[in-house]
Amino acid sequence: MRLKIQVLSILLLIFTSEIIQAQQIQKPKLVVGIVVDQMRFDYLSRFNQFYGKDGFNRLLREGTNFTFAHYNYDLTSTGPGHASIYTGTTPFYHGIIGNDFYDKQKKKMIYCIEDSDFKSLGSDDHEGRKSPRNLLSTTITDQLKLFTNGRSKVISISLKDRGAVLPGGHLADGVYWYNEKTGNFITSTYYMSSLPKWVEQFNDRNLVDQYLSADWGLLLPSDNYSINPPDNSNYEKDRFKENKTTLPHSFENLKGVERYQEFTNTPFGNQIVLDFSKAALQNEKLGLNNETDFLAISFSSTDHVGHEYGTYSYELMDTYIRLDQQIAELLNVLDQQVGKGNYLLFLTADHGAIDTPAYLRDNRIPTGEINYNRTFDSLKIFARRLFGDENLIASFSNRQIFFYRDVIKNLNLDIHEVEQKFVDYLRETFPQIQSVFSRDDLEKMCASREPNNFLLNGFNPAKSGDVIFNLRPGYLTNFLEKGTQHGSQYAYDTHIPMIFYGWHVPTQTRNEPVFIVDIAPTIANLLQITEPSACIGIPLIP
Ligand code: ZN
Ligand code: ZN
Repeated sequence: MRLKIQVLSILLLIFTSEIIQAQQIQKPKLVVGIVVDQMRFDYLSRFNQFYGKDGFNRLLREGTNFTFAHYNYDLTSTGPGHASIYTGTTPFYHGIIGNDFYDKQKKKMIYCIEDSDFKSLGSDDHEGRKSPRNLLSTTITDQLKLFTNGRSKVISISLKDRGAVLPGGHLADGVYWYNEKTGNFITSTYYMSSLPKWVEQFNDRNLVDQYLSADWGLLLPSDNYSINPPDNSNYEKDRFKENKTTLPHSFENLKGVERYQEFTNTPFGNQIVLDFSKAALQNEKLGLNNETDFLAISFSSTDHVGHEYGTYSYELMDTYIRLDQQIAELLNVLDQQVGKGNYLLFLTADHGAIDTPAYLRDNRIPTGEINYNRTFDSLKIFARRLFGDENLIASFSNRQIFFYRDVIKNLNLDIHEVEQKFVDYLRETFPQIQSVFSRDDLEKMCASREPNNFLLNGFNPAKSGDVIFNLRPGYLTNFLEKGTQHGSQYAYDTHIPMIFYGWHVPTQTRNEPVFIVDIAPTIANLLQITEPSACIGIPLIP
């Protein structure tokens, strides 16, 4: 009898401890956010046969792959893209309406993350004078910091300053980016008062000089690249002063600071971001703390190479094949340090890109331009002719007209009438324009997850202009003979990869329409924390 009771109580003990364990909320040790700058969705399929099994294909094979994920606003560029991924909302709420935009208070163009209140750490120049001040809503990284009372560690890394600052949110422990003047990784005094020792040691390795001492040649045998038009093409720029646009590229003709600038236009820019991320993982002991940590990485050489060489270039394909190997290496390091299944990862892009417009023109695909300078001149002439004063236009930028309200008042004009006259003029004068809205049209509505109005979703009531328009598919503000650009609401710019992988993520392929604003709430939902403040997305994984 006594033995029976003993056995029973032991069993009871085991049973209750299991219940307690099951009731404890589980969490991943680390979240890893990967943004590939300018990665169009079709780069997963077009180059797939050349990818290995441990990079993109491991994520596709074992994770959840959303094959129909899109941006849901107009003006798809790097600043707004990174902000939207991490805030789960659009420029309507987060306020990053462009990389550069007109500031109505300062009455001048500003850069989206500039902030003269702070100083550079890691360089003597002004390149570190940055902060997330213009980001008006919280990020998923902010929410994690708030939830754990700061105990989670958030580190954000990119080649571009805005690719690091915006994902880091307002509370990041460390935000580092590449300085094109010195080849070092730097930060802002917004985050800390001195650079960590490990960052100084990393900079002392002078990796840029090492990487540029060899040529950039094709990684695979050259016949693999013939899925593209020939490498010797008029659609590419001669970035490295070689009098040719074909691989292998040599950096011999680049002098001094030029070397550090042009380094971003090589796949080694992504390599140094990987090297730095590995150093951060190790030195910050990410994923080894008691709370969930967050590592945000943005690979942006892909965007630079795209801009210079275009979407069908050998250079672009080679950059992606190398990135595939770099991602495989990152996953391997995460497996070793954090453990497979213990980290939650997502991979997406900040926008896509149009095929080189001259290539489209030569292949009879509709394309063209409105031409920024000619349009601005014609708007000024119109203002003079109709209202007697061209100075009522404060700025023409990002396909928006900003008016000086005081000038309009002094001229005894009605702002609503002025807006409408400009809307009518644009509509009648420029057949390249798709839609044109006045502030009066847009201020009565709010942004939404479903992109019924891309311009509205990209419009911020306080910050945006008074008249706003977009162009026909395939059209740009300035036509390009070489390379590529992005910024529109069309599929080439908005259809991007969206893959979730790792902790509590099932293996599946889904093709229902989902949107960029869904990433942050999906991560919040898995972590069981509050989503970012102005989130309009929905969780995609239960
Ligand atoms: Zn970008
Ligand atoms: Zn770009």
